[in-house]
Amino acid sequence: MSTQSQQPKLRQPIVVVLGHVDHGKTSLLDKIRSTAVAAKEAGGITQHIGASIVPADVIEKLAEPLRKLIPIKLSIPGLLFIDTPGHELFSNLRKRGGSVADFAILVVDVTKGFQNQTYESLDLLRSRKVPFLVAANKIDRIPGWTSYPDEPFIISYERQSEEAKRNLEEVIYGKIVLSLSEQGFSADLFTRIKDFTKTVAVVPVSAKTGEGIPDLLAVLAGLTQQYLKKRLQYAEGPAKGSILEVKEIPGLGTVVDAIIYDGVIKEGDTIVLNGKNGPIITTVRSLLMPAPLSDMRAKGVKFVSVPEVQAAAGVRIAASGLDDALAGSSLYVATSPDEAKEIAEKLRGEVKELIFKGDNV
Ligand code: GDP
Repeated sequence: MSTQSQQPKLRQPIVVVLGHVDHGKTSLLDKIRSTAVAAKEAGGITQHIGASIVPADVIEKLAEPLRKLIPIKLSIPGLLFIDTPGHELFSNLRKRGGSVADFAILVVDVTKGFQNQTYESLDLLRSRKVPFLVAANKIDRIPGWTSYPDEPFIISYERQSEEAKRNLEEVIYGKIVLSLSEQGFSADLFTRIKDFTKTVAVVPVSAKTGEGIPDLLAVLAGLTQQYLKKRLQYAEGPAKGSILEVKEIPGLGTVVDAIIYDGVIKEGDTIVLNGKNGPIITTVRSLLMPAPLSDMRAKGVKFVSVPEVQAAAGVRIAASGLDDALAGSSLYVATSPDEAKEIAEKLRGEVKELIFKGDNV
């Protein structure tokens, strides 16, 4: 008889990136992906539809120099990043009482501090109850800063002149921590935080030089696996998800791109989601994923059909009757016709909210 206690299986936390325009959201996501790809002997990244997964062994490898500060034995299988940053896709990740996103990175340009969309992002995160950390970006532009590309922040910081350290502290505390405190959040540099449940972590990074990316990944992984364990427990049952985008694809008709946050979805499954004219009940014709090694930003991405997908994942679903599907709708796999009808009834209430959101009309 095994004496080993059964640890519940955890899925990848779903991470979104928000912040003011030009503060470096896209650059940060690109840098995270390219850093992970460069660590490819450890597995690189896995490309999904609308999302990328950085596997746990890559995070452990990148965070190796931080061992003393952040325990790097991970129980999560990795982190799933939603590829498109900003408000709009985030609003499509809604679920009852909150968000499909488990955690957020609020990007703030250290040379600018909080601006309009930083405050808007903060309000959104607050209203959807999504925990977050702040990536204090563009530290390479701090006066006197010497860049050490791709190094952890902790190591780069130690090598800086007293003047550069002072200038960094000035922007972190004089701008970012202050603005957060005015908004009712206690925050600190991540290296100085004792209780992460009470204090928002500020992680200095440069999306240009890659400094701080290892720290950012380690803090994200550490925080999510420690504090969101219950939420991340993976159920083997029917999938639950959220529709990120509805697209017209020549040859396939209307498809939906969905983020699956729980369970399993298979070819032939009955799915229920919202449409402009009420709930849609249909059957999954095929599940499409990017072919391995295809670059999502290059033209002519190849897709492969897969028999099933498990959470957390981004997947394209082809099925008939999706013409009216609504971005932002919940998506459920139903295991019987009665259950499909029950779910459809529950989804009815969601429709109005989605239609009046603006981008679906
Ligand atoms: P977004 O609008 O928030 O997605 O911002 P982008 O990622 O498009 O970045 C806006 C501009 O800032 C671009 O010109 C980037 O090259 C630049 N940028 C982003 N991150 C950094 C950084 O860490 N350091 C420096 N010096 N420039 C950056």
